[in-house]
Amino acid sequence: MLNVEILGGVGEYGRNCFYVETEGRAILLDCGVMNNHEKTSPDLTEAHVAKLDAVFISHSHIDHVGALPLLEQWGYNGQLFMSKMTAQQLKHTYENITIFQPESMGNWLTISDNLSFQWGFSGHVIGSVWYKIRFLEEVIFFSGDYVVDSYLLKATLPTEDDRGYDLAFIDSGHIEKRIKNVEVL
Ligand SMILES: [Zn+2]
Repeated sequence: MLNVEILGGVGEYGRNCFYVETEGRAILLDCGVMNNHEKTSPDLTEAHVAKLDAVFISHSHIDHVGALPLLEQWGYNGQLFMSKMTAQQLKHTYENITIFQPESMGNWLTISDNLSFQWGFSGHVIGSVWYKIRFLEEVIFFSGDYVVDSYLLKATLPTEDDRGYDLAFIDSGHIEKRIKNVEVL
């Protein structure tokens, strides 16, 4: 059973932050602030942070990473996964960043017995990625800002298998075009 909390980013512009919990453990997908003057934080609490096993970052835009200082403030000491290129673009560096190299694309990377992931390019900005995550018995897909038909950047998809998904977050990040999420799907 998955418990999903949308802490920001749906029906508003910015502060993408998705909390996914199963059997008392949790992961966080992105941790951004809103694109407004106040840079409003997501509805993330200390109680959420205490349960986190890992945090996955899709790309370096502030609506996906701007609230990372909250994790620091609440003493998060787990890993913070992002591509090498995303890490290089951050304005602030964090102690617990774990980067993955371009060569690892498409491979299953194991974090623990309960958690492993695959990543690929999402075509949105340099270093932006999607994740396919195995979390205990669940399989989760997280697109970040996916751009199907990027002019310059290659977007990839996960390898298909029979297992399918228990949960998928699909979001498209088209800057120059208006493509409906349904078309992306
Ligand atoms: Zn973006």
